Formats: sequence, structure tokens, C-alpha cells
Amino acid sequence: MTYSDELKGRFQASLMGNYGLPPVAVSHGEGRHLTDVDGKTYLDMIGGIAVSSLGHSHPAIVEAVATQAARLAHTSNLYLHEKEVELAEKLLELAAVDGKVFLCNSGTEANEAALKLVLLAGKASGRTKIVAAEHGFHGRTLGSLSITGKAAIREPFEPLGRDVAFVPHGDTDALKAAVDDTTAAVFLEPVQGEAGVVTAAPGYLAAARELTAAHGAALVVDEIQSGFGRTGAWFAHHAEGITPDVITVAKGMGGGVPIGAAIGVGPYAEALTPGTHGSTFGGNPIACAAALAVIDTIEREHLFDSVAALGAHLEERLADEGRIAQVRGTALWRGIALTEPVAAEVVAHLAANGVLANAVRPDTVRIAPPLTITPTELAEFCDKLIAALDEVQPAPGGRP
Ligand code: PLP
Repeated sequence: MTYSDELKGRFQASLMGNYGLPPVAVSHGEGRHLTDVDGKTYLDMIGGIAVSSLGHSHPAIVEAVATQAARLAHTSNLYLHEKEVELAEKLLELAAVDGKVFLCNSGTEANEAALKLVLLAGKASGRTKIVAAEHGFHGRTLGSLSITGKAAIREPFEPLGRDVAFVPHGDTDALKAAVDDTTAAVFLEPVQGEAGVVTAAPGYLAAARELTAAHGAALVVDEIQSGFGRTGAWFAHHAEGITPDVITVAKGMGGGVPIGAAIGVGPYAEALTPGTHGSTFGGNPIACAAALAVIDTIEREHLFDSVAALGAHLEERLADEGRIAQVRGTALWRGIALTEPVAAEVVAHLAANGVLANAVRPDTVRIAPPLTITPTELAEFCDKLIAALDEVQPAPGGRP
């Protein structure tokens, strides 16, 4: 029995079953590669689900975390510290908003904070209704779950006690019909990551901005998966030239260290008053130092400059592949839609051949690799994907 097999057995015996049994027992990572406990190395094309933007064990993050841990690891929210102030200022600068920040530890917590902001701000005018998108994903805690459009993960926990209307993502007319003067907020992802990297047509977010402003409702843009470079920019919504009322971020922000934030603008920056919200670990000095190191590295190394070109290269390489129906998404964040529902088999074949990707839907392979990936590594992924397709979903009549 390998050490991986032994660990898997112990995992199943000691950890709850919500993740099923993960296929790989990871020992360590470096750059774009992960190594399992038996020494097998993998090209990491999923980056901890759009988190490890600088790759693994990046020296800047290692240095920032070690230095901060040696100096000050934790204060709680009873005291302030320099790194949380620096990070909040930097987030406001990157988002290009005049606002304020609430720091937390994850994406779902960022959306919990956003919900509190819009409900508190809407209280005076009696606004309680939330509008969100079908197939959307905002997190697993009960508030964020209540606005999550994926019925299969939400319904087992209903009733969730919120007044939420779900509309088809990208459908401006449906949004118009759903939003009125009782709406507290519309929650949208610029690109629905968990739905399979599905992008709404250009203009959708801008229309949502116009509509919410006309009705005095908040527009909350969930950039938890789409932010921090996934689309080649700090925030995907910047492409639409809009300013949301609340922006939520997490995932890639900490480069692997847990952190999240809700950024509020105007009245939403002022909605939280003493006692209305809190988190023992939110704004933790180590997590803030890691996020500052991620931001500094992206800026110093101009990492966004290359991701669009790398993404275009990937599209070109996969364009003539008959068993790929569509390559969705932008830059280095892709949903590769197959003509058959064999994504799980393709992902298993990739893993057996040293590449990690994710079957986000039965017919879609998702990739969100480190932004530092090289053209050679991207070519390796494409070669191995095509080899996996040959094996799992043979082209009728064989390969041309
Ligand atoms: N919002 C979006 C768009 C996400 O993709 C996710 C996670 O996949 C979340 C929220 C929840 O983030 P977390 O898993 O950190 O709670």
C-alpha cells in the first residue's frame, strides 16, 4: 500500500464526507507544480480553485508570512495593526472606489458581510428583497447559500429565511422584471465560475448598474473567483466601466492564505456601526501581509500583462479540437466544454498523467492555473488534454 492509499483511508475515517475522497494526497508545492506524498509531481492547472495565483511556495508570500508570524500573528479585533490598514487602503486603490473595507477569512464570509451591508442600508426604506442569478454561487454559509442559485446545494437547507428572487444570468429583461423599489440588492458574479466559467454578454453588468441605481437598490458584484487577475485585471467588472455599491473578494487575494473582504461604497461603506458585525480572525496580520505580498508581486512583475496572451494561445491551440464544443471564459480562467459529459473521466486521465484540472460540470473541464504559468507548461496541458480526449472520448473514425 502506498502512503497516498494509507492517508486516504485515514482521511475517510477521520474527516467528514462532504468532499468525497480527494484523488491526490498532496505533500508540497513549488511554482506551478504539486508533489504528492509518494513523490509524483503534477502540473497544477486549477491552482486551488483560482487561489494560488502566484503558484506554490512563492518566495514573496513565504517571506511575508514568516516575517509577519515572527513579529505579530494575531491581535483579534480589539486592537488595530498596520497591515490591515495598508491592505484596506490598497484594496480601495485597486478597486478605484471611495469606500471602506471589512476584512474576513473567506469568500462566503465576504458575502455574509455584503448581505449585512445591504440589509442594514435598506432597513430605513423597508427593503428586504435580494435578486440573484440562477446557477450562481456565493458560498456555503446559510446567508450566502440563500442567494446561491445552484438549487441542488441550496434546497436541502431551505427554508433559509430570506426573500430572494433568482433570475437567469445574463438576461437583462428578467433582471428588469425582478428589480423594484423593494429590492435591497442585486448580487451578481461577472463570470459564473462554479457554473462552468460562464460569462454574461458585454453590457449585462452595466445594465444591472443602471437598473439598480434607478430603483435605489445596491449592486453587489461578487469578484471572489473573477477578481485578482483571473480575467487579466484586478476586477472583472472594470471592463464594464461600472462602480458597484459593494464588491466582494477572497480566493486569489491571499495567494493561498485564507482572507476575504467586502468593499463598500457610499452609504454601504458606512452601514456597519459598532456591534453590527465582527470576526475574531478577520484582518489577521499574517493574512493581510500575504495579501499585500500578492498585490506587490503582481504589480512589480506586471503579471497581468501576459495572461491575456497565454489565454489566447490556449484558445488557438484547442480551436480545432472536434471533441471540444467551446472554450469559455477569458485569459487563464477557462471552462472547456466537451461535446460529451466525460469531464470526470478526462480529469482522471489528466491526473494519471501528471496534470491537475477540475470537472466543474459533467461536460466541462475548468482550469485556473497560477498566473505565472509558462507557454511550455500551457502547451503540456493542451497536449495532455488532447491525449486524454483521445482515450476517453475518441473522435468518430479516429484522430484525423
Ligand atoms: N463566491 C464565488 C463567486 C465563489 O466562486 C466562491 C467559491 O468558489 C465563493 C463565493 C465562496 O468562497 P469560499 O469558498 O472562500 O467561502
